[in-house]
Amino acid sequence: MKHFIPLKFKVVDGTALGRACIATQNIVEGEIICKMHGVEITYKQFSEKFGNNCDDLLQIDTETYIELSEPYIFFNHSCAPNAGMRNRGVLFALRAINPGEEITVDYSSTADDLNWQMSCKCGSPNCRKLIGDFQSLPHEMQEFYREKGALMDYLLKMYY
Ligand SMILES: [Zn+2]
Repeated sequence: MKHFIPLKFKVVDGTALGRACIATQNIVEGEIICKMHGVEITYKQFSEKFGNNCDDLLQIDTETYIELSEPYIFFNHSCAPNAGMRNRGVLFALRAINPGEEITVDYSSTADDLNWQMSCKCGSPNCRKLIGDFQSLPHEMQEFYREKGALMDYLLKMYY
């Protein structure tokens, strides 16, 4: 699939979390960083291939996932993220991001899968340690993402 090469970030090695996406320029609040790309697969295809291990998958609809390609698989999770996801996988800045800062997303704000869990060592003061899907988020975090416009269309349809 052809798409614009993302210029607003680069992938670096050797951070605490392994590879990470680092901003290469000033990104203002609300600015689109990129659209997430990869191969679209259904829930059935996904579970046959991955079982319960969907850390590199992005859910974009009730039954549709993207098997993320590089560099999009390298956006790490944070419980205090500086980026959010809307529509069908459009990544945008929740606040101003400086060059050199890692760009992170709250994976719980994108997933609707009660079976999915991941342990977290993001180090933020409000780290939830064990993260799950959107329903597992504290209510005030759900509201925060909704008010920021940082929920994908399918989650808005399901829950609001
Ligand atoms: Zn965390």
